Amino acid sequence: MAVTPEPELAAPDRRFELALRLAAFQDPELVLDETLAEVLAGLGADHAMIAFRRLRALGEHVRFETVNRYKAAGPDDEAERHEAFGATLRALEGGAEDREGRMCVALEQRGHVVGALYVSRNAAFSPEDLTYVQDVSRLLGLALVNTNARHDAEERLSHLERLNRVFLTISHNLDLAKVQDMVLQMTMELTKAERAVILLNEEGQLVFTAGRDRHGPLMPDAEATISRSTCQKVMESLERVIVFNTGDDEALAKRHSVLGMQLKSILAVPLVGSSGPVGVLYVDSRNEMPASIEQDLLVLGAIAGQATILIENARLLRQATVDGLTNLYIRSYFMNRLAEEARRTLRYGGCFSLLVVDVDHFKRINDTYGHQTGDVALQQVAGRIATAVRVGIDLVGRYGGEEMVVLLPATDTPGAEVAAERIRDAIAGLPLATVGGVDIFGTVSIGVATLPAAARSAEDLFAAADRALYIAKNDGRNRVVVAPETP
Ligand code: GH3
Ligand code: MG
Ligand code: MG
Repeated sequence: MAVTPEPELAAPDRRFELALRLAAFQDPELVLDETLAEVLAGLGADHAMIAFRRLRALGEHVRFETVNRYKAAGPDDEAERHEAFGATLRALEGGAEDREGRMCVALEQRGHVVGALYVSRNAAFSPEDLTYVQDVSRLLGLALVNTNARHDAEERLSHLERLNRVFLTISHNLDLAKVQDMVLQMTMELTKAERAVILLNEEGQLVFTAGRDRHGPLMPDAEATISRSTCQKVMESLERVIVFNTGDDEALAKRHSVLGMQLKSILAVPLVGSSGPVGVLYVDSRNEMPASIEQDLLVLGAIAGQATILIENARLLRQATVDGLTNLYIRSYFMNRLAEEARRTLRYGGCFSLLVVDVDHFKRINDTYGHQTGDVALQQVAGRIATAVRVGIDLVGRYGGEEMVVLLPATDTPGAEVAAERIRDAIAGLPLATVGGVDIFGTVSIGVATLPAAARSAEDLFAAADRALYIAKNDGRNRVVVAPETP
């Protein structure tokens, strides 16, 4: 039986040992240092340099920057450093360098020249020396890819950990706007994209609901600059779409949004909830998508899944607590919050006020111009109240019909009177609707009551404000009346 001879093992040489050393490093800086030390020692060289190009994000721009690292066997030599830098730059531009006592070889990563490795000494180099430096450069390229990959993997893991924490904190948060913003922030951080947008399905239409770029939230007009065709495709197929380079897609490259924004890469994933498709999570960028995005999609899928549940919950809550016509809180929700505020204030001290706002002679508007115009006027009244009060602090509800209520936390009677006057003014000052070129004006009467000055319970507070409203009506309407203090 023929015995296959064992392949002869090459004597362990410097290259093998360098490969082992480099493989152990986690930090790319250490990889560079070790490689420079190796070529200096391995060739008895005097000077060595590694220069390479890397992508760097500067604000919204991304550009290549050249990084170089120099090491001398003896003392640093400014002139030699300069010479080395020139040689590496020429190598990056494709120029070869093989002069007596100087060598410069390409540094490649994944088949692309990303930099150069330069060595110089007082004596000429042999062809074996050249092979050796080329091998070292190859090892360096591999080691850099590995340390970067390790770094990326760690980053991805920390993303997942953060993601988990974020979702734990926001799973109790049913504020749709906040939930969406968190999702957008996580998505941008993960994909390194320049913009992220959430489009939600509203009665069959994909509607731009929230967006973010590196500077902050996007205005709704950004809608015109995103690739709608991509979002539509995702919504129809319920499959994600990744465009690494729009240049590769002829139809897409000609799109207005793509041309106008110079979009290079697009990623869109469907948000599919328990009741069907909810919307699309979309990101785009003027740079090519990193190849690592395929792995990041796993995390992005987790974001999309959680986001969908949260968005669905927030929407359901909204539907259950917000009045469809006016967009104000419905009566039961408002009254619960009022009771809560009364309990808190009675227990911990302080005060708060309640306004009851009723449209004057609203029946006349309905009777003269029709119910539909009445609805429009009612929406105007609601909108003006909502913008006249403190966003995120005051609570506005529709008590019923054309009667609105406002809860003003930590507000005393003079403060509440000011707010009430502001509301009265905002409504009386501008037409509530226009029919056939005729402006329809309207006014409101407002009753104001403060706890604990005018009442010691939520029910009594409401009754006091309602009595004040009744007085305002009797006194001629379009006015604010404050409930008297109880002894
Ligand atoms: P006052 O100054 O005394 O408040 O007079 P008013 O006409 O506003 O008072 P009243 O309570 O008699 O009439 C309220 C009207 O509001 C009657 C009702 O048809 C109308 N209304 C209630 N809800 C709606 C609504 O959602 N849309 C429209 N268009 N009208 C509504
Ligand atoms: Mg009325
Ligand atoms: Mg009324």
